[in-house]
Amino acid sequence: MRILIIEDEKRVAQFLRKGFSAEGFVVDIASDGERGSWLARTERYDAIILDLMLPRMGGIEVLRSIRQAKVSTPILILSAKSDLEDRLDGLNAGADDYLPKPFAFSEALARVRALVRRTSGSELGSILSVGDLEMDLLRRRVSRAGQEIPLTTKEFEVLEYLLRNKGRVISRVILTEHVWDMNFDSETNIVDVVINRLRRKIDDPFSEKLIHTVRGAGYMMKES
Ligand code: CA
Repeated sequence: MRILIIEDEKRVAQFLRKGFSAEGFVVDIASDGERGSWLARTERYDAIILDLMLPRMGGIEVLRSIRQAKVSTPILILSAKSDLEDRLDGLNAGADDYLPKPFAFSEALARVRALVRRTSGSELGSILSVGDLEMDLLRRRVSRAGQEIPLTTKEFEVLEYLLRNKGRVISRVILTEHVWDMNFDSETNIVDVVINRLRRKIDDPFSEKLIHTVRGAGYMMKES
């Protein structure tokens, strides 16, 4: 799952990044409102954590810009402005939940998970599949033909991204950006290493291959 954290306080942003990464989320951070609004409107996230007091563009304004762009990603407001009026402003502007600072990471995590669950509508909404391969995002389990396949965090994230974009060619650069951080050195062959490991686990034992190499372009997930 991919999460956007719009927070200008470095310490808080890093605390959240560390926590959510350890839980297997892919984390992007925007340290001002303008960039946060832009990322929220142009990239796809499963949830957004939004601070209210932000440079360049305030949190409520960011929220309005996201909802005006018809982006319905669940948004959790995180702010020291904990009085009722701000809380209502946030919810009225289209936020889904509100968590006052200071907060415990476990509570932020529980609320984000609840939001993702609520917006995906049902448990079924959190399952991605191609052919007989299934990925359960909430339980973080992958199975093929009913058989569970243990994956490392990075393998899971690469597979999740390919599954979300099944039938589309995904370049190494795009994969690198989504699964590693934005500034990761894409010259390394880390993507190919992970893809090879995934193939050994999910394709080699089966006759139908699901991960396809598109020469000179990247990878695609589809039923052959
Ligand atoms: Ca702030």
